[in-house]
Amino acid sequence: MTIAFNYPPMKNFTPHSGYVGRFAPSPSGHLHFGSLVTALGSFLRAKNSGGQWLLRIEDIDPPREMVGASDSIMRCLENHHLFWDGEVVFQSGRSELYNEKIQYLAEQGFTFYCQCTRAQLAHLEPGQTCGCANQNLSPENKAIRFNHHFIHQYFYDELLGHVEFPKQSIPPQFTIKRKDALFAYQLAVVVDDIQQGITEVARGADLVAATLLQLALYQAFKSPAPKFLHFPVVVTEPGKKLSKQNHACELDPNKVGTNLINALRFLGLPVTKELQRESVANIMNWAISEWDLNKIPAKTECIDNRIGQADSI
Ligand code: GLU
Repeated sequence: MTIAFNYPPMKNFTPHSGYVGRFAPSPSGHLHFGSLVTALGSFLRAKNSGGQWLLRIEDIDPPREMVGASDSIMRCLENHHLFWDGEVVFQSGRSELYNEKIQYLAEQGFTFYCQCTRAQLAHLEPGQTCGCANQNLSPENKAIRFNHHFIHQYFYDELLGHVEFPKQSIPPQFTIKRKDALFAYQLAVVVDDIQQGITEVARGADLVAATLLQLALYQAFKSPAPKFLHFPVVVTEPGKKLSKQNHACELDPNKVGTNLINALRFLGLPVTKELQRESVANIMNWAISEWDLNKIPAKTECIDNRIGQADSI
């Protein structure tokens, strides 16, 4: 991983004592309006709580990465005055830590080697386990999968309240290291959230179900889980998340104020006409003090896919 330019050292960074939040983008593309909403929401939540906001680049899946995306994401966050605390953490540099944690899980009897193909796993009935768990297979060319000792069916979300899934819908086993030796998101995210002392995970609601798998890992690591908060996702039509995969526009660096105003509106803040004429710094200061979780609309909203280019919603 090369970084094209040096960031100024973070000022006033002191070890945290209270709220620690984070934004954890995967560098598979540029930031778009949907990821700005998540970044802004988690930033405002942290700053309104007087806490720290960390940035972690989740670059553990090179085949899905876009060249230059990490730099573009960092530049875009800075343009929008989303200044993170401390050094950026890159998951690509943390393989040793992830291997150690897998070793720990193996010693506790939570893992097994699995030779199933993606298609075979997809054909399992809901709730059905794959046979590899009982076969004591050799490690060569196998994925490492996690076997729950206890399936979490629900959790409390700071925005959504009680979230519960039917037991049958939760896979009883899931991959933590792939056959191609790449670490899985579920493992890396939990290891890092624990290691970085994250007190609340604030992210998009597309990851609600993943929280249940992650809770199983917190339990296996005997680590208290952070709080969770899932923001509404920006969709282009009902059920279709605005994403890099469906060609979401890169945020226009010349329309930082407008981008922020649109994202603040999406998050339910009472944006006025006067605010739209303010500097980015003033908009952000206003937003930090006005931030109110109770104002976030409960439902997802459809946003035009050209939002990155639009002047206003
Ligand atoms: N890296 C994930 C993504 O970009 C988000 C991980 C998280 O916030 O837990 O979708």
